[in-house]
Amino acid sequence: MSAKRLFHSMPRPGRTAWMRGALLVMLSAGVTGIAGAADLSFSQCLDTLRIKASAAGVPGTAFDTYTRGLLPDPSVLELLDAQPEFTTPIWDYMAGLVDTQRIDQGREMLQRHAETLAQVEARFGVDRHTVVAVWGVESDYGQNFGQRPLLTSLATLSCAGRRQPFFRGEFLAVLKLLHAGDLSVDELTGSWAGAFGHTQFMPTTYARIAVDFDGDGRRDLVRSIPDALASTANYLKQSGWQRDQIWGFEVKLPKTFDAAQAGRKNKRSFATWRALGVERIDGRPLPAPDATAALILPAGKRGPAWLVQKNYDAIFSYNAAESYALAIALLADQLRGTAPQQTPWPTDDPGLGREQRKALQRLLAARGHAIGAIDGRIGALTRQAIVAEQQRLGWQFADGRAGQKILAALNAEAQPGPTD
Ligand code: CA
Repeated sequence: MSAKRLFHSMPRPGRTAWMRGALLVMLSAGVTGIAGAADLSFSQCLDTLRIKASAAGVPGTAFDTYTRGLLPDPSVLELLDAQPEFTTPIWDYMAGLVDTQRIDQGREMLQRHAETLAQVEARFGVDRHTVVAVWGVESDYGQNFGQRPLLTSLATLSCAGRRQPFFRGEFLAVLKLLHAGDLSVDELTGSWAGAFGHTQFMPTTYARIAVDFDGDGRRDLVRSIPDALASTANYLKQSGWQRDQIWGFEVKLPKTFDAAQAGRKNKRSFATWRALGVERIDGRPLPAPDATAALILPAGKRGPAWLVQKNYDAIFSYNAAESYALAIALLADQLRGTAPQQTPWPTDDPGLGREQRKALQRLLAARGHAIGAIDGRIGALTRQAIVAEQQRLGWQFADGRAGQKILAALNAEAQPGPTD
């Protein structure tokens, strides 16, 4: 279970005095040389965790080995309290996650790991396209595990910030996994919040769900692709996955439809949906009348609509975010060759895939903007450069958004004109 969105909806009590002090001290340590106070608090906290670890079966000597030289990292505390800079429109989110590159690589992975995936399907009853789609979205098929040292992040969050009990549980879980021999310290990098490996599980989820599928006696979701794929399927199975069912399908609504009927938790029978005028967009009949489904309208009534069943809920439980679950479901559809989404998102400026984002960054760099690495990630520097270009072009809304329009405008200028 990745924790990307875990905290967005949490209440935000003030930071503890320790954390404020520690942050100040740690941030200024290089200048003033007074790092002692924060280090002391942190080492006292580690002492407490050492006792808890021992009670949980990780002896003090092992604890000392795993935590040797460990220092707090104040930057994870800032991320814990960070408000998203702005809301990403769902069509940008989907364009980045379900892009040509991820679909092509997913098809490649289906071929390369066909034998493992067949065994995973047989044992857990979860189809290979969904398993591979989760893998692709979680870690880009193992290409992006997260860069942060896991024990540093989890120890910091266990000792400061507003979710210490939660992170202490995660920290202890990862120590137990190390002690059991499933993992080794040198391979532990992940997201700032502690999700790691091919499937970006949090440590407690790992402890509960991970399986040894390659039979080497270790549950290794960092180095073993069979273990990772099987563990993803096991997660979905434990979350209520129904063998041989689909997650859902796109529908069209009657003009007079009441959008208040939508919502993942508002399950109705297919007979009810049919009575309300909802039809499958591909013209096929709705499934068994007494089976239930919910209607989702991620961009409101003017956008695409889907009827979703139990397997969508299983995907949703992976990350508890609507756009995330839909990205997995639609990527899985692309991988299995189901017709892609037919109703466009309600925008005249659709989003960019990762290769297009890089192309935009190259155009901005060529116009003299200092935007850092051409990495397809739209950070503050890229947005500033887009704002400057939007203003130069005289656009009414210079919002810094990376969409098709700014890419096309800069592309057109970069091409030699017909009379050149
Ligand atoms: Ca294994």
